[in-house]
Amino acid sequence: MARYTEAVCRLCRRSGDKLMLKGSRCIAKCTLDKRPKAPGPQLGRRRRLSDRGEQLREKQKVRYSYGVLERQFKRIFAEAERKTGITGENLLVLLERRLDNVVYRLGFADSRAQARQLVQHGHFDLNGKKTDIPSCFVKEGDVISWHGKSIKSEYYKMMSKALGSKTVPGWLNLDKEKIVGKVLSLPTPDDIEAKYNIASVVEYYSR
Ligand code: SF4
Repeated sequence: MARYTEAVCRLCRRSGDKLMLKGSRCIAKCTLDKRPKAPGPQLGRRRRLSDRGEQLREKQKVRYSYGVLERQFKRIFAEAERKTGITGENLLVLLERRLDNVVYRLGFADSRAQARQLVQHGHFDLNGKKTDIPSCFVKEGDVISWHGKSIKSEYYKMMSKALGSKTVPGWLNLDKEKIVGKVLSLPTPDDIEAKYNIASVVEYYSR
């Protein structure tokens, strides 16, 4: 399975924004504070980005944040376009519905990258059935629980203790006793932090 292997802090430096790709580690120490310039050779004063450049940067920010490769991102965008409603909002909702994102939102992982790895390694059941596909979309009523022997791991013990202070978005429910998550409803655009200029992403693909 293709995946991104470059140091993730370079993605933030390229985007010029803290994307928090390393979870809580980003709070303690952030590379962007020390090295705010884009990676690569420094060619003197930076030129102002064109409109197209701005759109590309915004699209990359969303893509990096959700940890999705370009080909997959394009597929999700095409699906967002096919659906009724506003394409940008549909895109964000689809990205939120990815299983790795839901595992992250439930607090079972510290970052989306870690969530994706946990899913790929078969640590979760979706509606009682082992699922190792991070890109699958959850739907209303779906139940996400830990798979079999995974609950004996050190990571599970540490994570379940940390869940006490965790709050989850309104479209999800977390049973902190059983360590089980449930999708109460599909996310709406209001449930998703508005930290992207999603209109720019739509414009980028509309040319
Ligand atoms: Fe981005 Fe986190 Fe690295 Fe800072 S520490 S540059 S927020 S991934």
